[in-house]
Amino acid sequence: KIIFDQVSKSYGSVEVLPPFDLTFDDGEFTVLVGPSGCGKSTTLRMLAGLETLTGGEIYFDDKPISKLDPKERDLAMVFQDYALYPHMNIAKNMSFALRLARVSKSEIEEKVQRVAKMLNIAHLLDRKPAELSGGQRQRVAMGRALVRDAGTFLFDEPLSNLDAKLRGKMRAELAEMRDTIDKNMVYVTHDQVEAMTLGDRIVVMSDGFIQQQGTPEELFKRPVNKFVAGFIGSPT
Ligand code: ATP
Ligand code: MG
Repeated sequence: KIIFDQVSKSYGSVEVLPPFDLTFDDGEFTVLVGPSGCGKSTTLRMLAGLETLTGGEIYFDDKPISKLDPKERDLAMVFQDYALYPHMNIAKNMSFALRLARVSKSEIEEKVQRVAKMLNIAHLLDRKPAELSGGQRQRVAMGRALVRDAGTFLFDEPLSNLDAKLRGKMRAELAEMRDTIDKNMVYVTHDQVEAMTLGDRIVVMSDGFIQQQGTPEELFKRPVNKFVAGFIGSPT
């Protein structure tokens, strides 16, 4: 369980996130959704330890983590610009973190195969990133996070570089994957359809404020204000 307790963030004198509370329950797929600039990535980056907190504290199972290095936090992050290593083949890209952690060869092999199969990239393991399509590269970036046995996976707009058709396909695959992986997932997007398809729980943000959180059904049926109604597309 992850708890944000009165967490806030300012850049210089500009407060982009006033103090807020937020809880992520175990085994839950939570989507942070909201317009560009509302503070989604900042929230995720604070959780990952890539950004300091201006105020408040984040707890992993009651343990404060704001002083911990990103590496000491039990999580794996998938970035938007996937940054694969061009000189390594796909298998090596996927196993990079495991090799650093000196996981045994046979265990690495087993994990890479299992995740590659799940993401439908098992036939690409010998290729280099440049020999893959954008959608395939995106899957490798996801695979690289998923082979790690992290308790929590963070996704920052992982589909944003894909064309509409591939987005739809990947969205469906992610929805399937969500049901087979029993992990905490925090998924950031500005796409309402993605949020409504994938989220067990959705947190709607705008201008640094959490407007509402709930299940897709709750948000659709009982939006607390016009912004949420308009954003989620519920009838008003
Ligand atoms: P998008 O959907 O466009 O990715 P976002 O919701 O992820 O948007 P953030 O990247 O969290 O938004 O940014 C929130 C606010 O903080 C924005 O107004 C942004 O300009 C500001 N901001 C982000 N990083 C910095 C920084 N390093 N210095 C100053 N301001 C920043
Ligand atoms: Mg962002």
